Amino acid sequence: MNELNQLRELLRQKAKLVAMLAPSFPIMFNYPTIVSRLKQLGFGYVVEVAVGAERTNAAVAQLLRDDPQTRFITSPCPSFVRYIRTKHPELIPYLAFKADSPMVATARIVNQTYSGYRPVFIGPCIVKKREASEDYPQLNILVITYKELLSSFPQLADAAPATGAAGDGFDMTAGITRIYPMDGGLTFSGGINAILKEEEIRIVSGWKNIEIVLEEFKKDCSIRFVDALFCDGGCINGPGITSPLTTEERQQKVLQFQKTNQVVTSRSQ
Ligand code: SF4
Repeated sequence: MNELNQLRELLRQKAKLVAMLAPSFPIMFNYPTIVSRLKQLGFGYVVEVAVGAERTNAAVAQLLRDDPQTRFITSPCPSFVRYIRTKHPELIPYLAFKADSPMVATARIVNQTYSGYRPVFIGPCIVKKREASEDYPQLNILVITYKELLSSFPQLADAAPATGAAGDGFDMTAGITRIYPMDGGLTFSGGINAILKEEEIRIVSGWKNIEIVLEEFKKDCSIRFVDALFCDGGCINGPGITSPLTTEERQQKVLQFQKTNQVVTSRSQ
């Protein structure tokens, strides 16, 4: 059974589910309307994946502090991780697996907080399905793209302006990590640019650009940190998004949500 059919069946059974919305969601949905509508659909709780990204950032910063000489490559993007595994296996030791991806970190928080509930990741990425099923099967994460969700539940695509009504907000909410789906989101939200010098960091997206940076990383040991996302421009251009917006307009949507929705929550963490 594919993931969408699994979700339909779980909703029909009134299973206990937590929706984990990826930080690119403002490109596709209005907030807080989407939270109310997901709950009407049958989700018990709705949380931001940007919450888990805070743990990812803390772990990455800790790795850099623990070893001032260390060099590594970020691992939240499963397409990039798989690219390294197949095309550059000699770089596998540099992947920062000690830092969970935001999806995985959020699922761990959900499992700890909402006992008996299954985490459902809703986001822009198809390859997250493989990360969940191949790399972290024990977390039992169901992965659905925005596009898939809307194909089955068109009532979620509400173009009405957000009301900001009390009680409509996320059950767990984040702040600066909402910029994660854009180029350099991890570096800037995690303050990595304050730990390392600018010349020690490479921020890159798009597989052709990634190839150039990886060759540079191999040759130049002064490069200590590569922050990479496989889709051009980052997750805001992931394959699970359907939107007529340009990359710049998508960035604006994400930034606008980060700046203007700090306090609309029902049960903040
Ligand atoms: S950059 Fe693309 S492939 Fe990588 S996590 Fe984001 S949506 Fe998925």
